[in-house]
Amino acid sequence: MDKLFIANLLYVAAAVLFILGLKKLSHPKTARNGNALASVGMLIAIVATLAFYGEIDYKLIILGMIIGSIIGALFAIKIEMTQMPQMVALFNGFGGGASALVAAAEFYSRTGAGETTTFLISTIALSVFVGTLTLTGSLIAFAKLQGLISGQPIVFKGQQVFNAIMAIAMVAFAVGMVLVPVNIYMYFLGVVILAAVLGVTLTIPIGGADMPVVISLLNSYSGVAAAATGFVLMNNGLIIAGSLVGASGLILTMIMCKGMNRSLANVIFGAVGLVQEDASGGAQQQMNIKSYSTEEAAMILDAAEKIIVVPGYGLAVAQAQHAVREVADFLEGQGKKVLYAIHPVAGRMPGHMNVLLAEANIPYEQLKDLDEINPEFEDCDVAIVLGANDVVNPAARHDKSSPIYGMPILDVDKSKTVLINKRTMNPGFAGIQNELFGFDNSIMVFGDAKQMLQQLLKDLKDL
Ligand code: NDP
Repeated sequence: MDKLFIANLLYVAAAVLFILGLKKLSHPKTARNGNALASVGMLIAIVATLAFYGEIDYKLIILGMIIGSIIGALFAIKIEMTQMPQMVALFNGFGGGASALVAAAEFYSRTGAGETTTFLISTIALSVFVGTLTLTGSLIAFAKLQGLISGQPIVFKGQQVFNAIMAIAMVAFAVGMVLVPVNIYMYFLGVVILAAVLGVTLTIPIGGADMPVVISLLNSYSGVAAAATGFVLMNNGLIIAGSLVGASGLILTMIMCKGMNRSLANVIFGAVGLVQEDASGGAQQQMNIKSYSTEEAAMILDAAEKIIVVPGYGLAVAQAQHAVREVADFLEGQGKKVLYAIHPVAGRMPGHMNVLLAEANIPYEQLKDLDEINPEFEDCDVAIVLGANDVVNPAARHDKSSPIYGMPILDVDKSKTVLINKRTMNPGFAGIQNELFGFDNSIMVFGDAKQMLQQLLKDLKDL
């Protein structure tokens, strides 16, 4: 049988496993399985490529594998759960960069050998453009999330006009690559440089709570770059894998935009999150904060029948998922109803809270998403907000100047009592004050979430 035919058959098998894997990833219960299935698919695709695609220098591949494995393992060991978004951003960038590099290598070898066609040069231009833009855009996203540069939107006058001119110039260079072969190397360099600059100028104006959407979008771009490189190499496996990443990244981006009640255009071009001079001249709002001890909190919980736990980024920082489960178990043992409210952008990555709570074996049936849980707050006795801030900030409903205005929030303030745990009065990711903390029905229990919950459990048992 023809080698290419066998390779293509194996690619189809890999594609089926990728799709089944993606399907299973959509539910926390089956996600691990899905991950394993997709990994097997990738293994099949890699083996098919190595075994049936042309002549291969195994020495270089093994060297690449060793270096890559060391870097990957170091990342996996060193990175904290809370640094996941930056890591994902960086890996998206590496993916885009790798696609661009492969396309660039093909560009130099094929033009050198005089084997150019319009199709080849167009796909190379596309791959290099999207891949380079993904690389520099992801590096900026990484730097923002890591605090290396300001997380606020960085804007300058005429930014969008500048971006538009750059984009038009880049398309012109790409067309030049195809139509004017004498200047092909100059045009190629032009595409690379402009794509690199565009990646930066398109990402710097995005900030605050919009970063997750951008990371997901860059993930989608890295898939598009891989698919384009697949066309350069005429490798069906890469085309399929890249298209799946591109499409699923785009679907996730749209889901996240919906979760934040924003359009994609508004996320990319809106510079939302920019600190605006407000009418009060930036003066801090005065709030009447009521600080309670865990003992007092235990008494309030003792009298409650329906309790909703609202986890946020702080719960992940404190690694308090097991502690919250123990408190919930105790309360349920006393006949109380306990539910968990999951906001789509709580934490620092999509599904962050689901993963965290699943680690503590909290039953999936108790995890309720935004639409399902919001009506439940009306007759809830106590909402326990654990290290969540932006996702429960009522300013999102009414304050048009707020960077999170329009984002659907968890309606914790509709509960009889809102018990809020965090360490200080510091703001959350969006960098803004939360008026909820001063509401009449709000009480604060300050401290690290894990320590607070452990003490709360002791106090509940002592009642
Ligand atoms: P926030 O970032 O709004 O707030 C987290 C709060 O946790 C802080 O106010 C902090 O207050 C508190 N905290 C930190 N450490 C601890 C600790 N050890 N114990 C107790 N509390 C702690 O989190 P939310 O989950 O409410 O919102 C997520 C935000 O992140 C949104 O703005 C979202 O857009 C953004 N984002 C989301 C991503 C996603 O995909 N989910 C990705 C990137 C950003 P203090 O310091 O006083 O303790």
